[in-house]
Amino acid sequence: MRYISTRGRVEAKGFIDTVLMGLADDGGLMVPEQIPQVPVATLEQWATLSYRELLLEVFALYINDEIPREDLEQLVERSYASFRHPEVTPVKKINESLSILELFHGPTFAFKDVALQFMGEFYSYVSKKQNEIIHILGATSGDTGAAAIQGVRGKEGIKICILHPHQKVSKVQELQMTTVDDENVLNLSVKGNFDDCQKVIKDLFADLDFKGKHHLRAINSINFVRILAQTVYYFYAYFRAQESAGTKKINVSVPSGNFGNIFSGFLAKKMGLPIHKLIIATNENNILERFVKTGDYKPGDFKSTYSPSMDIQVASNFERYLYYFVGEDAAKVSEYMNNLKTEGRIVISAEDLQRVQQDFEALGASNEQCLELIQKYKAEYDYLLDPHTACGIAAYEAHNGADEVCVTFATAHPAKFDEAIRLVDIKQQFPAEIEQLFSKPQHQQVVEHDEAEIVRQLEAFYA
Ligand SMILES: *Cc1c(COP(=O)(O)O)cnc(C)c1O
Repeated sequence: MRYISTRGRVEAKGFIDTVLMGLADDGGLMVPEQIPQVPVATLEQWATLSYRELLLEVFALYINDEIPREDLEQLVERSYASFRHPEVTPVKKINESLSILELFHGPTFAFKDVALQFMGEFYSYVSKKQNEIIHILGATSGDTGAAAIQGVRGKEGIKICILHPHQKVSKVQELQMTTVDDENVLNLSVKGNFDDCQKVIKDLFADLDFKGKHHLRAINSINFVRILAQTVYYFYAYFRAQESAGTKKINVSVPSGNFGNIFSGFLAKKMGLPIHKLIIATNENNILERFVKTGDYKPGDFKSTYSPSMDIQVASNFERYLYYFVGEDAAKVSEYMNNLKTEGRIVISAEDLQRVQQDFEALGASNEQCLELIQKYKAEYDYLLDPHTACGIAAYEAHNGADEVCVTFATAHPAKFDEAIRLVDIKQQFPAEIEQLFSKPQHQQVVEHDEAEIVRQLEAFYA
């Protein structure tokens, strides 16, 4: 298997080089040359595998022989040893039409751990095996940063710098990042919003001299290894839902921001997993909902919501979908992305919109709706939703049909977003791992939203 760029101007690469490259050198995103197909008979065999076994099977289709099976097994063992649940991502049945896939049992209590604990081990493996210097640089709306730092803290041969929007992440998210005192970790708290942080990162990665000189490696979901690691739980969730679905069709509802998680679902479906509807759930930052409903992809005004990890206007993985949408035509993708840059939007025809609507359903939940649902599910099912998951539930309630069941993804543990939970007068007991963060000293540099200042900080850190 080789990997190519959505914009078509990068020589085909193997798996490890694709991961090391992150953002493609032509500004596009890396995708597999062909999507491997999983026949029905194989799906039947996979249905009883454990999470770890499933990961090995899925990855085997993508990594060629670049990582020997025994090495991959060890990587998987180490990656998921820090998870608090033996199933890694358990599925809880709530009622006859709804199950919840709990993706928050990793060390930082959000779904990012599933891919990033693996990615940390992967980078460490590549650093040792190929003698690569790994300087991770990324932007976070809160959860990616915490999970990535946790994945590589203290690891030899790796340094990590994470930009987060100053005072626009939840308290627990901030503490998870800034209470880490390992020398290979730098937190930059940027006076701006997430899109500002992401823009700086995109610019620095686009500067190929700077990227090469400083050995910059990406952890954002533009990195294909994250997408791939996330496809595993789509298979896992589907198989668990299938056990009690009978003849009903199986949908998934996915709290979405950068389009990374839901794109993993799109990929799983293209591989042959018969998911019925892929439901995109967003909050009031609803560019994805507007695109699916009107065919106009246009960043709106940034809003701060109770689900800050989805406070995103420019969904960086959207380009991967666009690539398949235009029939894998890199020239067309470049044209669309150019329109986005020069005109600030992508508009598709009515005919094309129908195709989008065959691929996705979407709903943006209001702040108010989100709080109502947290109360409702606590009262009716004694299940405490975090505000991101509540958006997923809103989209499930809006789009799940009569003869369908839905797996809604719980992308974070409610303790991570207590600010919202307190608003509905629910007192939660914090897990001990989170409770103890409050008494630790914090390590971070507060910086202006100024690329030159950020570059200076980086140069000092990587020196
Ligand atoms: C990152 C995140 C999301 C959004 O995921 P994308 O892959 O960016 O679409 C949703 N919920 C939580 C809790 C997150 O941390």
